[in-house]
Amino acid sequence: MRVYNFSAGPSTLPLEILQQAREELLDWRNTGTSVMEISHRSKDFLALAQESESDLRHLLAIPSHYSVLFLQGGARSQFAMVPMNFLGNKKIANYMDTGIWSTLALEEARRYCKVNVVASSSDRGGKTIPPRDEWKINPDAAYFHYVANETINGIEFPHIPEVGALPLISDMSSNILSQPLDVSRFALIYAGAQKNIAPAGLTIVIFDKTLLGDALPFTPNMFRYEAHVKENSMYNTPPTFAWYMAGLMFKWLKSQGGLERIAQKNSRKAVKLYSFIDNNNFYENAIDPDCRSKMNVVFNLKDETLNALFLEQASVNGLANLRGHKRVGGMRASIYNSMPEEGVDLLIQFMDDFSKRFG
Ligand SMILES: *Cc1c(COP(=O)(O)O)cnc(C)c1O
Repeated sequence: MRVYNFSAGPSTLPLEILQQAREELLDWRNTGTSVMEISHRSKDFLALAQESESDLRHLLAIPSHYSVLFLQGGARSQFAMVPMNFLGNKKIANYMDTGIWSTLALEEARRYCKVNVVASSSDRGGKTIPPRDEWKINPDAAYFHYVANETINGIEFPHIPEVGALPLISDMSSNILSQPLDVSRFALIYAGAQKNIAPAGLTIVIFDKTLLGDALPFTPNMFRYEAHVKENSMYNTPPTFAWYMAGLMFKWLKSQGGLERIAQKNSRKAVKLYSFIDNNNFYENAIDPDCRSKMNVVFNLKDETLNALFLEQASVNGLANLRGHKRVGGMRASIYNSMPEEGVDLLIQFMDDFSKRFG
C-alpha cells in the first residue's frame, strides 16, 4: 500500500511514472535491457536525451539561446559552479539571504569572491523576505543570486526580483516546474532534481549561452559549463536512470495540461492547507502570508509536546514524512507537483480530527 509521502526530498513521484518505469524496467523500448544498462552514447539513449530536453524546453518555453544541461553533483555543486563560471573578472557578487539554502550558497561563494549580502531574512526572524526598498544591491557585482523557494524555511519569492541590468541567477531546486516561468529574465537557473522532478542524482542547469565568459583559471573541467555544453551533458557519464525518470516527468506534466494547469492545482493545494492552519487554533504558521511557499508548508502544533504523537498518528493514517527539518523543528508538508490533491485533503482531515481529539 502506498502512503501519501510529504518528504521534502527525495520526494514522492506520480504513481503513473513509477508504474511505467516498472513496466519498462526489464525491456526498455525493445532493447532487451533496462535503460540503466545501456551506453549513454547509444542511439536509444541519445534519443531519450534529445526528447527530454525538448519536452523541458517546451514546458518552460526556454528561449533557443539558452543551454539546458543535465548534470550530476546536486544544487550544492552549483553553489560553486555559479561563481566559478559567472564571476568573470569581477570580484564581488550579490546574494539575497532568505534562509538556510541561501546562506549555504553564499558561504560557498565566499571561497571565490567577496559576497555582498543584499538583505537577510534573519534580521526579521526568518519569517519574511525583506522589502525591496531595504535591499543593498551592488551594481558592480557580477550577478545577483537568490533561492526562489527556501525548502527548509517554507519561504518562496512571490515574484521574480527586479535587479536592473544585473545577471539574475536562481536556485529553483524545490519549485522549478511548479508554475510557468519567464526564463528570459534569468542568466541562469539551477535545480537538483530530487524535489520536484525525478530521483536524486540529476541536476538541471538552464542558462543564457551569450552571457557565459571565461571560468576562473583554476576551475576543474568538470565544473566548467562550457565543457558540458560542448559534450551535450555527456562530458562524463550522466546519471542515466534519473535522466530517464525526468523525461517521464516532463511527459507527465505535459499530459496534465502543462504548467498553467499544474500551477492552478498547486495553488489550490497550498491555499487549502494554509487556510486550514490559519483557521485552527491548534496549529500555526508564522511565515508572512505574502511569501509562504506553495511547495513546502511548514507548521507547528501550538502544544509541541504532542509532536511525536501527531507524527505517529499521521503515519498510522498513511500520511508519511511530515517531520520538519531538524534546524527549524515542527512539521513540514512538502506538496510538490506529484502530491495529489487528495493527499492534501486527507492531511487536512487528519489534522482536523487530531486537533479535535487532543485540543
Ligand atoms: C535540497 C536543496 C539543495 C541541495 O541540493 P543537493 O542536490 O543535495 O545538493 C539546495 N537548494 C535548495 C533550495 C534545496 O531545496
